[in-house]
Amino acid sequence: MDRSHAEPDIRVPAFDATRCDACGLCALACPCGAIRMTPQGPLFACHAHCRHSPDCVALKEGIQPCEITCPRGAIEGRFQIRL
Ligand code: SF4
Ligand code: SF4
Repeated sequence: MDRSHAEPDIRVPAFDATRCDACGLCALACPCGAIRMTPQGPLFACHAHCRHSPDCVALKEGIQPCEITCPRGAIEGRFQIRL
């Protein structure tokens, strides 16, 4: 199947591999364990790992820890979690 014109998956953050040095800080920052590191950088599965905790900063304040932790600006959150 030709996926070259596929829509981006908005359930996960946007990721710019050209900025990433695979440091792994985003995976450490994610409170849900939703990032699996590879030698090429993080793989995201946020929608599968969300625990809908009332203490979650992403839920309460719209902050996505992986995005604010990345020192190279490689991650851009593009969704807001709403209960
Ligand atoms: S924190 Fe940023 S630079 Fe480090 S692995 Fe994650 S996306 Fe890549
Ligand atoms: S958006 Fe939230 S759940 Fe997804 S990887 Fe980042 S911190 Fe984890």
